[in-house]
Amino acid sequence: MWFVTLSRLNRAHHHVLGELEALGLWSDSMAEVQVWLQPFAIGCFGWQDYGSSGDIHIPAVATPRILAKFGFNEGCSLRQLLRHEWAHALAHHHHDLVANRDFRQAFDGSHDCGRAVRSYCPTRHISPYASTQPMEDFAENFMHFVKHRGVPPAKWRNRHIERRWAFIRNLPNLFN
Ligand SMILES: [Zn+2]
Repeated sequence: MWFVTLSRLNRAHHHVLGELEALGLWSDSMAEVQVWLQPFAIGCFGWQDYGSSGDIHIPAVATPRILAKFGFNEGCSLRQLLRHEWAHALAHHHHDLVANRDFRQAFDGSHDCGRAVRSYCPTRHISPYASTQPMEDFAENFMHFVKHRGVPPAKWRNRHIERRWAFIRNLPNLFN
């Protein structure tokens, strides 16, 4: 479908919350995050107010979703979108877990550096978008990690992706 309704968003949201809980990637402070259905967005499928409210916003109508409908770019399921945005929400509420050396070693740079640290490499980066900056690298890996319950499909079994997934796998041990 080319637009998002409140009932579809609620269903996807409920599903992803269950996944996060099952994987131990959920905390009381993340429960403060509100997920909003917005009317319209031009340049993105959704966004998260990193560093301000922490909330997640999903537009009912988004130009990339319309373009994907007609085959002009890749689509993104609502669940995948929410998993990606929840990675940003986790980083927002648990900044100490990503502002450290373990993160920099796993994702080739500091979480908040705001720029690409290495050009796109299909072995190292789980998607082209992951190469845009370390926080997106984290969110893209987190999205697939949650979808695949922490077990990487064969195509991603290499030392770069496994280093990133090991970082995510360890996060539940660090929540306090
Ligand atoms: Zn993102």
